[in-house]
Amino acid sequence: MNNKFWTYEDESVELTLNWAKERTVSGSDPKTTALSAKELRDKVGQTITEDGLGPKKALDIFDTLNKATRSADDPMNFAYIPCAPTKAAVAFDEVVSAANVFGGIWECGAGAIYAENQVVDWIKKNLCWPDEAIGTFVSGGTHGNLSALACARDNAKNKWKEEDRYPNGRPNDGYKLIISKDTHSSVKTIAKVLDVDVLVAETDKNGVMSGKTVEKLIKENEGVFAVVATTGTTNTGSIDHIESISKVCQKYDIWLHIDGAYGGAGILAPSVRDLYKGIENADSFIVDPHKWLFAPYDCCCLVYRSPKNVYNTFSQHAEYLEGVDHSQSNPSDMAIHLSRRTRGLPLWYSLVTYGSKKYTEAVELCIENAKKCAQAIKNTEHLELVMEPTLSIVVFKRKDWEIEDYASWSNDLALDGKLLCIPSSINGEIILRLAFLNPNTDIDKAINIIVDTTK
Ligand SMILES: *Cc1c(COP(=O)(O)O)cnc(C)c1O
Repeated sequence: MNNKFWTYEDESVELTLNWAKERTVSGSDPKTTALSAKELRDKVGQTITEDGLGPKKALDIFDTLNKATRSADDPMNFAYIPCAPTKAAVAFDEVVSAANVFGGIWECGAGAIYAENQVVDWIKKNLCWPDEAIGTFVSGGTHGNLSALACARDNAKNKWKEEDRYPNGRPNDGYKLIISKDTHSSVKTIAKVLDVDVLVAETDKNGVMSGKTVEKLIKENEGVFAVVATTGTTNTGSIDHIESISKVCQKYDIWLHIDGAYGGAGILAPSVRDLYKGIENADSFIVDPHKWLFAPYDCCCLVYRSPKNVYNTFSQHAEYLEGVDHSQSNPSDMAIHLSRRTRGLPLWYSLVTYGSKKYTEAVELCIENAKKCAQAIKNTEHLELVMEPTLSIVVFKRKDWEIEDYASWSNDLALDGKLLCIPSSINGEIILRLAFLNPNTDIDKAINIIVDTTK
């Protein structure tokens, strides 16, 4: 150790790693809840000062603030999309920080990027994609979707320029992206960022988009550069009809992007694998390991079936980057980022530790739990199942309840830490929604709470 400039080094390392260890082992308090900024200011005041407070006081303040956050890994948390990482993955996230690897280019991060690529290969294998497919890890589904669609647009631009279809490759009326009404909100924001228009394909009563409605839009519109199909919508877990959509995309030579941020992990589960048929022909795919692959936050795996045009789109060039060898597997050539944490490593470590079979079992268990819960709801007089679950999300209603009843029920359970379930809606109608992503959930206990407290 020759770092003389910073004081408190040993003490802060000791304190914070102990805190991290304790929290990792014990899990979190499900009763925790948000406070207003004013309440937090009253509790901790101004935290950054000219002379510093020292590591002990700083950590004490964080401990106070942390109590005003909601645990994402509690087994009774079914709100939004919970994050329930393995403890192995959580602990390894700290190793990633300690290793302090620049993960943007192979030359700096070779060993760590090799490990990340092992996970990419595992995902490629599950997609039945060719060896030439490439991928990397970005911060989340939003970032993954953005990079995939930026590449898709660049791809169309180059192709259309080559074909002399449009001068400069840009369609007269702009680029168009086909989505469905249940496509994730991030894609609509990405369309704004990329300045492309969105065409919304019709879906069936379960929110499933199919090749027929996609083809109709392609025929009616010029300049369609990509279709986004979702394998597991965030609200209900519905899966678009990938097989027919992929055929249409092949027929018209249009990029197919699969948003599997939540439900992409379902591809591991034999019980639902058929629903992903056609995915082998998609052009890009994302899955968030921080959702259903049991990794901590800040992790999306983004893969492209062909490396063609990927490097073209993303490689950055600068005087100081002239020496970068672009024939290597450089994550910075595959998405819109340069400096990056090797954020695929927590999943890699956990996968190496447990083996992939355990992951298949964990995903299947969540699907089984959802089925079991759906059945219990069907068997309960005062509840109504809104649709059969496709993956691990259950949507249901309490007969005769109004919006206020749902809100107060959800609030009461959250406050005493019993169970976290936030109301949502389908086509404007309020519903309750449970997302099962934690293999540690005691499903019988969860069902009992839901049935009893809604009486
Ligand atoms: C969560 C989600 C996203 C966005 O992912 P983030 O990691 O939150 O950025 C995109 N698509 C779908 C289907 C999702 O469920």
